Amino acid sequence: MNRIKISDFKGKFINMHTHTTRCQHAKGTDREYVEKAIEAGLDVLGFSDHAPYLMEEGYVSPIRMRMDELEGYVDSVLSLKKEYEKDIEIYCGLEMEYFPKYFERTIAEIDKYPVDYLILGQHFYDGEEGWISPKRAWADEEHLAMYVERVMAGIQTDRFFYVAHPDIMCFTGEKEIYRKHMLPLIQEMKHRDMPIEINMNGFRDNLHYPTPAFIELGVECGCDFIIGMDAHNPKLLQDWENYELCKKLVTERGGNLICHH
Ligand SMILES: [Zn+2]
Ligand SMILES: [Zn+2]
Repeated sequence: MNRIKISDFKGKFINMHTHTTRCQHAKGTDREYVEKAIEAGLDVLGFSDHAPYLMEEGYVSPIRMRMDELEGYVDSVLSLKKEYEKDIEIYCGLEMEYFPKYFERTIAEIDKYPVDYLILGQHFYDGEEGWISPKRAWADEEHLAMYVERVMAGIQTDRFFYVAHPDIMCFTGEKEIYRKHMLPLIQEMKHRDMPIEINMNGFRDNLHYPTPAFIELGVECGCDFIIGMDAHNPKLLQDWENYELCKKLVTERGGNLICHH
């Protein structure tokens, strides 16, 4: 897996962060996402709905597709890819956490399908316990270290294209502690040529991310930045007002934004 890398898309306008109704908290048909993306002038659209996860036996997640929906998801994206190939490049991806306890068995199942890429979106520490709620503030170093350790281990599996909202955890402790933990993670992302995602969903909902302190560390490390629309509704592929404001978060700090409109 990870049949793509960021250097494949130089100079193109891309969005690799798009959901579908299968995650149970998005709207619109798969086709509507494609049509809105074409109208928006995107060269590349990546679908990255929340991956199914094989957690405790019998547990059904309310926020991701089921494993038995994966085949239909992949089929739908591949058939749209073919149908619209003259208008837009489409890729089939998934947004997924790294849960050490369940990752291997889940990925073994996902690998049976022609999924082009995965993005790492760590919304929980482990399974669906310990939600890293974007509305909750964390001040202790222990949770920050645990978050960074999960994301670091996730990217070191070599399975991920980039990290979705790497700054999803709202840390309100000391700046130096934030830097101590986030800097090695950002350096690892830079080393792997992973751009830093500026997540439009967090911005739109007035959450604490995209986080200025995180962006500044990324600029310091010489990372590239990319906008992830994180669209849970087709019309959000054309949310230009927030798109421009997200761009500004990077450019006004001297960061290098890539693959943008
Ligand atoms: Zn996410
Ligand atoms: Zn998402």
